[in-house]
Amino acid sequence: MVAEIINGKDLSVEIKEAMKDEVAVLRQQSIVPHLTVILIGDNPASRSYVNGKKRASEEVGISSDIIELPESVSEQELLATIQQLNQNELVHGILVQLPLPNHIDVDHVIEAIDPKKDVDGFHPINIGKMMTGQDTFYPCTPYGILTMLRSKNITIAGKHVVIIGRSNIVGKPVGQLMLQEDATVTYCHSKTKGMKEITRLADIVIVAIGKPNVIDSDYIKDGAVVIDVGINRLENGTLTGDVDFDSVLEKASYVTPVPRGVGPMTITMLLHNTIKASKGLVT
Ligand code: NAP
Repeated sequence: MVAEIINGKDLSVEIKEAMKDEVAVLRQQSIVPHLTVILIGDNPASRSYVNGKKRASEEVGISSDIIELPESVSEQELLATIQQLNQNELVHGILVQLPLPNHIDVDHVIEAIDPKKDVDGFHPINIGKMMTGQDTFYPCTPYGILTMLRSKNITIAGKHVVIIGRSNIVGKPVGQLMLQEDATVTYCHSKTKGMKEITRLADIVIVAIGKPNVIDSDYIKDGAVVIDVGINRLENGTLTGDVDFDSVLEKASYVTPVPRGVGPMTITMLLHNTIKASKGLVT
């Protein structure tokens, strides 16, 4: 079997076309969806992600700005900036680009964002709403994965989904979304014993480890769906996922590539959440 590739780049272009119309209608009603991104320090990867988010926003008509703060900014100053944005009615979405410098507590920062403007979907209130099945902002990468599966009409209900990785931004929430779609969910992580035996039972494997090419066809049963969340930059500068793409391609039914896989969908779901925020749909 040769897997069908789920191209997140193409899917995101399609979704963004529809968003352009949606934003145009909002603008006619004098609602201009606005995203403010806070970038701290001068990490080149963070800068590149932030610029990508601004570019994508503008593509669909969402207005956006970037607030740049120095690496030395105090937690208090950062929280004060967030408070101002919380009170600014023209700002619908607030995103603080992670990771943060070590002297700033990431939980304090996430909890300072008004949950109604938390377009990353990381605030504990929004996570709690997601876990209890209430409408809210879903975290962007998990929601992007769900959208990719739906785009291919891949059945999730009743399927065994194995998630490798249990981070707060990818692993844990994507498992919750799969559970809500009536999957049976198993989590694996660095302390899991006999991981290969577990993943070989999976109908859908979602890999979010952060190590290049760890998961090859040995971990996959024939016909499984493989979603690769990992983004790893190799020494030669190329990007690769956590999955050995060529090996899995011969065995899976569907596989996502890196690049042009989950990454573009993450940004697209951020736009989705910003539009949702501008409509006041999350209260
Ligand atoms: P993270 O916070 O570092 O979490 C990694 C998880 O993988 C942890 O739960 C860890 O287990 C587990 N793990 C590490 N090595 C393992 C191994 N050999 N076998 C099994 N589990 C292992 O990373 P993250 O933020 O979730 O990100 C994961 C990857 O996705 C990174 O490459 C990141 O760049 C990428 N990412 C991509 C997007 C996108 O838009 N495509 C978005 C976010 C992240 P423990 O909990 O036991 O330590």
